[in-house]
Amino acid sequence: MTQQAKTLLVTGGGRGIGAAVCRLAASSGYRVAVNYVADSAAANEVVRAIEAAGGEAFAVRADIASENHILAMFEAVDKRFGRLDALVNNAGVVDRKARVDQMDLARLERMMRINVIGTMLCAREAVKRMSTRHGGRGGAIVNISSIAAVLGSAGEYVDYAAAKAAVDTFTIGLAREVAEEGIRVNAVRPGITDTEIHASGGQPDRAARLSTLIPMKRPGTAEEIARAALWLLSNDASYTTGALLNVSGGR
Ligand code: NAP
Repeated sequence: MTQQAKTLLVTGGGRGIGAAVCRLAASSGYRVAVNYVADSAAANEVVRAIEAAGGEAFAVRADIASENHILAMFEAVDKRFGRLDALVNNAGVVDRKARVDQMDLARLERMMRINVIGTMLCAREAVKRMSTRHGGRGGAIVNISSIAAVLGSAGEYVDYAAAKAAVDTFTIGLAREVAEEGIRVNAVRPGITDTEIHASGGQPDRAARLSTLIPMKRPGTAEEIARAALWLLSNDASYTTGALLNVSGGR
């Protein structure tokens, strides 16, 4: 791998969709920074697999809920790679199934802080490095939204759905703001995807249970979401910006 290979930072890259993005990006030639917050073993395993296949990667711990952590993470990427070409804003959380009249402030603040503000701060740091306005060479950002932004997730997690709708609008606005500065900004809206996120929200059987609601009658795989993200990062999507791509089995 040459020093000129493009670099990619994936937030929440140790597990689920993020891990699939890291692996696929490395096999496409990117040098990859794998962010995680708690599961260092999973992130290190992604790095090991990439290195075993001849690629380059490193794991970087940062809580996307913390601006200081985000700043330190981008500095670590600067130090290690010396350039940033792509960002996948993937880190995200759900919470327990609840009605809005049951949601307390702490829940809402965590939901917005990680899923919305964290995404915005990471995008800000990426733009500072990529924008031709700041002496950068351009780049691409993909935000991992959710089809929940369209569906609303009534009775389950309306807060999460609203956070992802904010990510969608942020994607459209930022795309237009930096379109002349060499940066494309797009979002992928996954439908129900087979990862551990459902167990983290107390519903380990959610993907299988809700499959009947999906026109294709099955959940997506992390790899299927990753392929869409990699396409949006790639030069094949050179005229695509501000797009919100549903990858949701028809739902
Ligand atoms: P997952 O399997 O639960 O993995 C989540 C990843 O995000 C983990 O790597 C985790 O790090 C990281 N993360 C969580 N909070 C973080 C924080 N505060 N700071 C840094 N990293 C953090 O989730 P997933 O299903 O792959 O979801 C990835 C993205 O897709 C999320 O934005 C999610 O909303 C979206 N999405 C998922 C689905 C689905 O059905 N799976 C559907 C639509 C959208 P650790 O490994 O260190 O814990």
